[in-house]
Amino acid sequence: MAHEDCIFCKIIAGDIPSAKVYEDDQVYAFLDISQVTKGHTLVIPKTHVKNIYETPSEVASELFARVPRIANAIKAAYKPVGMNLLNNNEAPADQSVFHIHIHLIPRYGEGDGYSSNWNVHTEDYTPEDLQTMAAEINSEIK
Ligand code: 5GP
Ligand code: ZN
Repeated sequence: MAHEDCIFCKIIAGDIPSAKVYEDDQVYAFLDISQVTKGHTLVIPKTHVKNIYETPSEVASELFARVPRIANAIKAAYKPVGMNLLNNNEAPADQSVFHIHIHLIPRYGEGDGYSSNWNVHTEDYTPEDLQTMAAEINSEIK
């Protein structure tokens, strides 16, 4: 079901133009209007779901099933040296469009425009802490 205020639903419907990379009955892929690197592509399900929390497993399966083919197409077209996949969920995590999407960001080496700064906190957690945390998360799996 399309969501009336959703720009990605409007793109799927053709009401907003896009540079379409791929389309089938379940999935639509198009170039991000703000290209981080050349070939930066968004892959979205045709079903409107807000983000990863609300994505039924069948929609996730169909969505991710297309990603390797599209990634390989970008690789064949532009010969990047690597590729990052990114999925932002909720505004504090930089989600700005609330229709789930996977960013495919081809990489061309240092200074290509993409950056992700991870401050790792390995020393803050003992192996026992990690076991406790894993059990806490596991107990919430529905
Ligand atoms: P988010 O920040 O939610 O992970 O990513 C949303 C992405 O959608 C942004 O990178 C933004 O450039 C892209 N975007 C937003 N509006 C449009 C649009 O109308 N057309 C296209 N092609 N991309 C869009
Ligand atoms: Zn939508």
